Amino acid sequence: MSKVSSIGIDAGSTTCKLVAIDCDGAIVGSRLEPTEPRVEIQMERMLAALRDELEAGPEAPVIATGYGRKLIKEATRNVTEITCHARGVFRALGRAGTLIDIGGQDSKVIQVGDNGRPVDFMMNDKCAAGTGRFLEHTAARLGVPVDQLGGRALSARGEEAITSTCTVFAESEIISLIARGADPDSILRGLHRSLVGRVISMVRNVGIVTPLMLSGGVARNDAVRTMIAEAASEEVVLPGEPQLMGAYGAALLGGTA
Ligand code: ADP
Repeated sequence: MSKVSSIGIDAGSTTCKLVAIDCDGAIVGSRLEPTEPRVEIQMERMLAALRDELEAGPEAPVIATGYGRKLIKEATRNVTEITCHARGVFRALGRAGTLIDIGGQDSKVIQVGDNGRPVDFMMNDKCAAGTGRFLEHTAARLGVPVDQLGGRALSARGEEAITSTCTVFAESEIISLIARGADPDSILRGLHRSLVGRVISMVRNVGIVTPLMLSGGVARNDAVRTMIAEAASEEVVLPGEPQLMGAYGAALLGGTA
């Protein structure tokens, strides 16, 4: 019999994630790819590959979340990202608290209750400021790959103030700074500071219940985590696979664990 008890799909705006769990809620397989224009076809392919790898049949329930969740034909159910991230992180860290989820095109602050359910939340999906896209878009100007952004920002000698939170205006500021010969790493540090400022104002609106927890792809960026901890004067904890937490939570909601 297959060890897979449930599969979670997170069809995000930037990346597609799949997580399979066993009956104890442990992750037994996963997939992550940049989102393609036809997400329903992409997910069909990714799901078939994961089932093949794990020798799993179609009997395990498939729960979908993410902005493309309603397009997933194989899904037995679809659930919001708020619920799934809360559930995934609660299970991974074993704690309630204030969860900050920063994805490619939106960011959310979620109060996770003692039962792993969201108690309150705030979401920014109208503007790229405070999202992965803000960093990627502006950093592309500096030719720095996304997985090096945080390290470069943290090791910068100084910090250039980026006053615009808007991506378009921030990009103009960067162009001027580059033209004036500013140090690229100090520009990156300023960019991270700007993103964190935006996120922290959402956190203050929702209120902090410690610990602060982080999920989403941008949680993989060490500078974001460090600067959030500094700005809030609080410890920030994150699960081992922060980018998979939406799909993990979806899988947990479909399984017995
Ligand atoms: P969504 O669920 O909205 O599609 P994700 O939670 O997968 O988005 O996050 C995608 C974002 O994560 C990208 O925009 C990118 O900025 C960021 N990201 C992905 N990998 C890394 C990494 N290794 N280091 C830093 N940031 C990363």
